[in-house]
Amino acid sequence: MTKTIIELNKADLTLGNAAASVHVLKKIDLKIGEGEAVGIVGPSGSGKSTLLMVLAGLERLDSGEIHIADKALHNLNEDALADFRGKNIGIVFQSFHLIANMTALENVAVPLELANVKNAFDIARKELQAVGLGERLSHYPGQLSGGEQQRVAIARALAPSPAVLIADEPTGNLDTETGRQIADLLFSKQAERRMTMILVTHDPALAARCSRQIRVRSGEIVEDSASTTKIKEAASA
Ligand code: ADP
Ligand code: MG
Repeated sequence: MTKTIIELNKADLTLGNAAASVHVLKKIDLKIGEGEAVGIVGPSGSGKSTLLMVLAGLERLDSGEIHIADKALHNLNEDALADFRGKNIGIVFQSFHLIANMTALENVAVPLELANVKNAFDIARKELQAVGLGERLSHYPGQLSGGEQQRVAIARALAPSPAVLIADEPTGNLDTETGRQIADLLFSKQAERRMTMILVTHDPALAARCSRQIRVRSGEIVEDSASTTKIKEAASA
C-alpha cells in the first residue's frame, strides 16, 4: 500500500437513544492508502453511511481512533474538525443536497466564501466548467436534471481541492446511463487530482471499478480485497 492517509483503530459507535440504540460500528480497524479508490458494499442498514460520516468527520466515535492525513480527528474540537473537513474532505450524497434558492454558481462558491477562500466565484466557475456545466451557472437546482445537479454537487465537493473524496451512493438517484457518466466523472477527477476516493454503492459494477472493495455487514468489515483472506472466515477458522 502507498502511504496511509486514513486509519481507523477500533472505531466504535452506537446511535440512537437507550430504548432504540443500534451498535452501528463495531471496533472497526481500517487503513486506506493515499490515492486508493475504495468501494464499500453491504446490505442496507449495515453501517455504510455511518462509516462514511465518521470518515468525513461529520459523526464522532464513541471510542477508538480516526486519523486522516496525520491528524487525530477524535482529538479535535468541533471548530477544528469543521475546519479540517472543509479543507481536506469533499462529500457527495445520493440526493445531491444542493441549496434550492441558490444558483449552481452560488452553491459551489458560497461554501468557499464561508471558508474565507479568495476568488471563490472564480474557482467555482472553473469547477463548474470542468464538470461540463459552464452554460448552467445561473440555473437553480430545480431547473437542472438529476445528473446536472450531481455535477454541481461534485464541483462543490472538489472546489476546495480535498485530499479525500467521499461519495454515498452517488449514482443511486440516477438512471443507468446518467449514473455511468457521473461515475466516469468521479473516476476521472480522482485520477487527475490523485485523490483518495471512498465510495459506497449498491452497484457491483461500480464497486468493481474501484481499486479495492470492502464489504460491511452489521457494523463490521467482513471482506476486504486488500487482504488475501476473507476476514470473517479467517477469524472463525
Ligand atoms: P447503510 O448506509 O449501510 O444502509 P446506515 O449507516 O445508514 O446503514 O445505518 C446503520 C444502522 O444504524 C441502521 O440500522 C440504522 O437504522 C441505524 N441508524 C443510523 N442512524 C441512526 C440514528 N441517528 N439513530 C439510531 N439509529 C441509527
Ligand atoms: Mg446508506
